[in-house]
Amino acid sequence: MSTANRVDVDRTDTWTRYRKGLCAGCAARCCTMPVEVRVPDLLRLGLVEPFEAEHETPAAIARRLQRAGIVGHFSHKHAVFTLAQRAGGDCLYLDATSRLCTVYERRPETCRQHPAVGPRPGYCPYGPASDQATSVTLSRPGRAGRGASRS
Ligand code: SF4
Repeated sequence: MSTANRVDVDRTDTWTRYRKGLCAGCAARCCTMPVEVRVPDLLRLGLVEPFEAEHETPAAIARRLQRAGIVGHFSHKHAVFTLAQRAGGDCLYLDATSRLCTVYERRPETCRQHPAVGPRPGYCPYGPASDQATSVTLSRPGRAGRGASRS
């Protein structure tokens, strides 16, 4: 059985213990998981201007970004935004061909913390790029993502 046939991003018991260098051969499956972000992340990504961050409520910012298709969900309780995903589950900022982050230097804190912080600390849904075509599980809207909140 190939790695892709048993790796399920929704089932942390199928994940691999993270080690240095693992990302080099991976299809970036972690970037198919919902990403929770906060206002400082949106500022760093250039999605929110400092003036807006200071004068608008997070809910108002969320409404604007949801209309723009950048935010898929907003938790009023935690003031946490979840980035929208493409149809196949990829993050909006993942290059579909190279499987590399297009905003790496400005990526959200959640991405910086992965896999140290997340559903299964120290483990990730590693799957070789060569197995991507047979991948069995991609992200589905509404499931738990990498962030700390559960809304
Ligand atoms: S922002 Fe970059 S690192 Fe974070 S999930 Fe999206 S593509 Fe991956």
